[in-house]
Amino acid sequence: MARNFINLDVNPCKMCMPMGAAIAFKGIEKSILMMHGSQGCSTYMRRHMATHYNEPVDIASSSLTEQGTVYGGENNLKKGLRNTIQLYQPKVIGVVTTCLAETIGEDIDRLINEFVAEEEIAKDITFIPVATPGYGGTEYEGYYLSLRKMVERLAEEGSNDKVNIIAGNLTPAEIRRIKEILESFSISYNLLPDISKTLDAPYSKDYQKLPDGGTTIEEIKSMGGAKATIELGALLDEKISAGQFLEDEFRIPLYRVALPIGLANVDKFINALSKVTGAKPDPKLTEARGRMLDAMVDSHKYNAQGRAAIFGQPELVYSIATLCLENGLVPALLATGAKTSKLEELLKKDFGLAVEDTVIIDDTDFDTIRDYVNKLDVNILIGHSDGKFITERDGIPLVRVGFPIHDRVGGQRKVTIGYDGSVNFLDEITNTLLDRKYSSYREDMYDKHFTG
Ligand code: SF4
Repeated sequence: MARNFINLDVNPCKMCMPMGAAIAFKGIEKSILMMHGSQGCSTYMRRHMATHYNEPVDIASSSLTEQGTVYGGENNLKKGLRNTIQLYQPKVIGVVTTCLAETIGEDIDRLINEFVAEEEIAKDITFIPVATPGYGGTEYEGYYLSLRKMVERLAEEGSNDKVNIIAGNLTPAEIRRIKEILESFSISYNLLPDISKTLDAPYSKDYQKLPDGGTTIEEIKSMGGAKATIELGALLDEKISAGQFLEDEFRIPLYRVALPIGLANVDKFINALSKVTGAKPDPKLTEARGRMLDAMVDSHKYNAQGRAAIFGQPELVYSIATLCLENGLVPALLATGAKTSKLEELLKKDFGLAVEDTVIIDDTDFDTIRDYVNKLDVNILIGHSDGKFITERDGIPLVRVGFPIHDRVGGQRKVTIGYDGSVNFLDEITNTLLDRKYSSYREDMYDKHFTG
């Protein structure tokens, strides 16, 4: 159910497109992002990423001023690119636009072509331009569109035995977990993007401007010859799907599955891997699945009391909603800042969601979310840390998940995917409900209900 009668966003439940691009490009080996726009945009992205991942994050900016805004930002962009190459010596530069650059009509494809033709220092560098006006979508679209542009720019026709995995916006620890699952199938793969080290690097005395790790250019090239693609993104529009491009351009079979959170979604991911490899899951995975079933039985009696508001980027909201539905929690409110009609459509189709029990809002803000949270008698919030002010004002606890988590450590290490990750996450949700119950049951029993 969409609520469209206000045009003003108060605390939007989203970030802008270049934010998603910044995360995607951090997963490419020796890559740096150049943001064509005013300086504040790159500061905003760096601040979000540095407090969530607890890593130093460098993002270059063309620092458009009044002059560049009026006469065009060509000189700023080219000077910025020269400085960036000298300072960082990257292999890849993602060049993304911002609100300002798009509004003044900057043609970054042309500017980059000119720069490459003019500058000797640019000849060994791969440039990947992506149009990401801040107002053109959210971090969700910016993230997936950047992956698609990388593949469009680099993937080559060929034939190899690899499987492409297009990862959703997961944590570095979750990317490590995906790799463990892939390795348990003994397959060779291209994982795009790979932030497992670049945004969660081991301690080192020497500062590296561009940390080790990330998907290599050669891996992206070989995606054009892989035997299959598994894309983690159930709600994705085809226009921003890298897997769709690989299927259309190179006829690579595409399996699109949800982020593997919750029993059904993890099963679908594992089944897709079994299908493309022809191999059975490792016994350790089967055991972990059995433990998950056991954990679900253990906690279901407590979860029936849960009425959850789930918010964040659409893929995460979808997968967490399914985890709730599998475990008897009512997903009373599902909210995302992106525009999508697929959330409701898929939840009805795949999980028999009864829409009369659930309000679904897209393109929304936290003011609207808070209204619904109170109207719908929600007793647990599940989402990123921007929802914490509802906890502060209304006392409803927040289980933190997704991006960004600014007010806790460990956002980059959180694992909610796979059977074991889902169990830990479910335990956290159940224990939050128990905590709330035990901290208020005397008051509920005597003060609210006893009228004698
Ligand atoms: S919304 Fe626009 S101006 Fe604001 S940070 Fe994003 S790109 Fe920059």
